[in-house]
Amino acid sequence: MKRIFLTLLMAAGCLSFTLCSCSEPAVQADSGEENVGQDGGDGDDGTGDTDDPEPAEPERWFIQRGLVASWSDVMNADAIDYVEIAKANGINTFSIFGAERTWPIWQKFADRCAEAGIDLEYEEHMMSRLLPRDLFSTHPEYFRMNEKGQRVNDANGCPSSEGALAEIRKNAKTLAVDYAPTNDKYYFWLDDGGGVCHCDKCKGLNYADQALLFENAVIEAIKEVNPEAMLAHLCYAASIDPPQTVKPHEDIFLEFAPFYRSMSDPISSEWAVGRYSMKHSTYLRALKENLEVFPPETAQVLEYWMDDSLFSEWDPTDLVEVPWDNGMFLDDIDTYASYGIRNIMCYCVYVGPSYVNKFGFPAFLEEYGQGLLNYER
Ligand SMILES: [Zn+2]
Repeated sequence: MKRIFLTLLMAAGCLSFTLCSCSEPAVQADSGEENVGQDGGDGDDGTGDTDDPEPAEPERWFIQRGLVASWSDVMNADAIDYVEIAKANGINTFSIFGAERTWPIWQKFADRCAEAGIDLEYEEHMMSRLLPRDLFSTHPEYFRMNEKGQRVNDANGCPSSEGALAEIRKNAKTLAVDYAPTNDKYYFWLDDGGGVCHCDKCKGLNYADQALLFENAVIEAIKEVNPEAMLAHLCYAASIDPPQTVKPHEDIFLEFAPFYRSMSDPISSEWAVGRYSMKHSTYLRALKENLEVFPPETAQVLEYWMDDSLFSEWDPTDLVEVPWDNGMFLDDIDTYASYGIRNIMCYCVYVGPSYVNKFGFPAFLEEYGQGLLNYER
């Protein structure tokens, strides 16, 4: 998404702030001990006895409770310690973009996440790496046909091209290694805002159908690398309508990202209208219809409640305070839960050292974690 590019620009400038995060976390629970694939590492009563039964961890409605953040915002733990905030408030997943993951500072961060039972995953647009644009000169048929009947390599590709799908399968396996998550969830999104293919074979397929042709190829390929792999189908912008023709592979999960929603009204307010005249009623209809195709139990929401890149209109030099409304957030997660959704991620881009310097400690991160952790149906 657009914010990724802009956030990278501020990476260098974020390193020098040293303000402490002084807010006391609202301690009600420790961390996401039930986190899949992690042993939690606590439940220790301090006696060292091993025969004591493990205290029963209450089952949480929201299984995945996470943040999508820029590395530049989370890398300086002296300024804002995301791992500590997550640990204290039940946040159990980070999706981090923009990191140089061969650097020791990343390894230290990843080690701290592992110790705290926090999963790492990578939610990013990946189409230009699955189908490199420079193949256009030799294989224009791999790429999409625009409405004028011309092959163009501006975005995405032609999902009816066997050559394109073979290239995508090959590159997906490499990317699955480079972007290996700790929770088996992969997010190789299509291009942000890119057009689709209008060739004779593709023109009857809507955006989601075309996306699924790519995604079905990707999941088959990455399961050769990781048999437990799951892949997101992003329901976002042009792709909110459900697929009409193509059936998703069983290990593709729905990721619903209501990017244009109103941030002043709960998603349950059907009359509310967000950016680009997008109505909440349209979003809720799309969510319902998509959940008739994709399993609710693996579906996930990607929200924007704390996305300061959105609120600051992607200008990191003029940060706006996040208009956090805990009541609206709680209403929203109740709405999502009513659809059977148990996995929530939220952007918190630009909520880093510069934000803390300007506005103080972002206590909404704690309310976010606690709200998800303590939610009961
Ligand atoms: Zn096509």
